[in-house]
Amino acid sequence: MNQTRSPVEMSVQYLKGVGPRRAAALMAEGITTVGDLLEYAPRAYIERTAQRSLRALARQLLLPDLFGTERETVSVLRSEVSIIATVERIMEKQFASRRRLLEAIIRDDDGTRGALLFWNAHEYYRRILQPGASYIITGVPELDRLRRITFTHPQLERIEEEEHVLLEHGILPLYRITENMRACGITLGMMRRLARTALDTARDALVELLPPAVVERYQLPSRATALEHLHFPPSGDHLARARARMKFEEVFLFELLLAVNRETLRQGIAPQIPPHSPRWQRLVERLPFTLTAAQQRAIETIAADMARTTPMHRLLHGDVGAGKTLVALAAMLAAVDAGYQTLLAVPTEVLAEQHWRTISRLTSGLDVQVVKLVGSQTTRQRQVIAAAISSGMAQIIVGTHALFADSTSTGAQQYHRVGLVVIDEQHRFGVAQRAQLRHLAIASHPERLHPHMLVMSATPIPRTLTMTLYGDLDVSQLDQMPPGRQPVRTCVIGRDQLQSAYEHIRSEVRAGRQAFIIYPLVDESDKLEIRAATTEFERLAREHFSTERLALLHGQMGWNEKEAIMEQFARGDFDILVATTVVEVGIDVPNATVMLIEHAERFGLAQLHQLRGRVGRGTAPATCYLVTERHIAARVHLPPSDDEPPSVTRLRTMEQTTNGFLIAEADLRLRGPGDILGTRQAGLPEFRYVDLVQDAEIIAAARQEAFALIERDPHLRSSEHAALRSYVLRRVSQTSHFALA
Ligand code: ADP
Ligand code: MG
Repeated sequence: MNQTRSPVEMSVQYLKGVGPRRAAALMAEGITTVGDLLEYAPRAYIERTAQRSLRALARQLLLPDLFGTERETVSVLRSEVSIIATVERIMEKQFASRRRLLEAIIRDDDGTRGALLFWNAHEYYRRILQPGASYIITGVPELDRLRRITFTHPQLERIEEEEHVLLEHGILPLYRITENMRACGITLGMMRRLARTALDTARDALVELLPPAVVERYQLPSRATALEHLHFPPSGDHLARARARMKFEEVFLFELLLAVNRETLRQGIAPQIPPHSPRWQRLVERLPFTLTAAQQRAIETIAADMARTTPMHRLLHGDVGAGKTLVALAAMLAAVDAGYQTLLAVPTEVLAEQHWRTISRLTSGLDVQVVKLVGSQTTRQRQVIAAAISSGMAQIIVGTHALFADSTSTGAQQYHRVGLVVIDEQHRFGVAQRAQLRHLAIASHPERLHPHMLVMSATPIPRTLTMTLYGDLDVSQLDQMPPGRQPVRTCVIGRDQLQSAYEHIRSEVRAGRQAFIIYPLVDESDKLEIRAATTEFERLAREHFSTERLALLHGQMGWNEKEAIMEQFARGDFDILVATTVVEVGIDVPNATVMLIEHAERFGLAQLHQLRGRVGRGTAPATCYLVTERHIAARVHLPPSDDEPPSVTRLRTMEQTTNGFLIAEADLRLRGPGDILGTRQAGLPEFRYVDLVQDAEIIAAARQEAFALIERDPHLRSSEHAALRSYVLRRVSQTSHFALA
């Protein structure tokens, strides 16, 4: 207990220049220890030689405005820039409107002048702006009528004497300074001094976490050097290498935990399921089509996995309509042939019904008992099914969350020798539910065998995210569509073209086809919005589709009403389904050939892609109309530009591609990883250094090294890995296999 603490763990409060007040401001940003302070990397850097001059900015802003907008100022660069300039003088202007403007004239190294404009807080700015002093000015540059570069209410950082020296030679780091920090005197200069002190205090105690072989192979600077260069880069090249190292380390440590987790899962013993399945053989022979090469590959890989006693943990990833169900069925029939039960978990009753029907139809005559277990079944039905399941008579069980618990009694459902668990649309299930299914399966064996697990996902996510988000799973990709499938033609149209889209829907219906019309609802529980959707539905029925059969579906309906309507639509009882986004997941209506999405600019890319995936599932050509305001549609059809709103980029992306991976990449670029699918909830950390869009190579390399390491030294017993071992032990739960080993 009286072990001396590493200076890295020392509280920032005891650093020179930090008192309780500053310590509190730093802690609010997660900076508690000296180590945290060192990890508080600059958000950007200014390099004097590479700096943009006011003149260069002006040239950029003078590019002809695409739309010839008659505005007083034109802001072409929507993003912020940082420049260095000296304040020459400050003046106040009074307008007839009685508004007052504080204007600071600035001048950069080249001698070009510009202005800083302040409409309020004049007292404050008079105090901090001093003629003759230099500042780092961060803001969105604009060009005024005098063709002068102006910044309105920019962020200002005064450059102190000592920093001038730094700047002459190198690169000046810019830290993120919060209002809180500023208020107690933590300026940029102060942050830099603190970083210096922290480095001096803790440099020798900074432990290298990466294994020597890895550092060697990738020629990475040491941890201490990298942190030093992050805060005080001697050159652009040193900085680049320092950042690459921190990225590598960040991903490596994350992947290492995944590798450990995977190793733990692999400790269980699973039933060996022979790869050759007579039932599957017979099924394939009578399929009206041949499997795609991608399906075949996935089936073989899965069969090889299941032939081992190491439990399979595999993700089957494939775009909507790629044919995942059949791949899963191949695995299920292998399990049936080997005498094991299979659980197929799906998120909704409609999907359960659909899978149950498809699988029953495909396996008819093959002597397979397929049952469905869902919440809406009566107690009596449930009892009969539960008995068939626990006796082992039922071989494939398709179910919703009802799989977890038997509502007819207090206990959980008893299964009988579960060899395989399949989870469809896996993003609808949490990590905990995956574990719960695994435990139910383990409990179904007297000898506590672990099941093989296959999770399926159509969520279009880029490969870099697959590697991180599903990092503890092996991945099979269905990157090929069944032949004859026609890509959905997508048209972004202005509201003025609605009539012709409606006419198209009417003609498809006359030809015996079906259509979806989708309305966005911000909030499925908002009564007013539901009423708007209902009114709209009635108007459509009255004015545009008086002879077609329409149904309405929204989130406020009871689930059995909803399920009933979906099913009737799937059966063809309605021609047009007017719906909110509740139709997003998984349902297969091959006869639907048109989808019209209203206010398409309000939807995210992933959602538009999921929605569009509801059509084009048959062999007839399908169309998706993305309806928006006329001016937005016009802009979508102009060449892309840097400053267009994200909604325009989204709609153009949808029009240009149906490839889920390209869409996912565009989405990641537009939104950043934090927002995609609520990745944080899915267990993805906020990465500090690595960029999931741009750092694919580093991610792949770091992942490969981490997994290879755990393969070689599963419990990190080698002395070279001691630091890593204690890192992992601090983060994995005490009860896990790793900690006990
Ligand atoms: P998803 O991957 O979205 O779950 P499904 O498994 O539901 O896709 O398959 C979509 C449709 O494609 C189904 O009607 C299925 O019968 C059909 N299908 C699957 N594989 C093939 C194939 N190799 N050739 C032609 N059609 C196929
Ligand atoms: Mg599916």
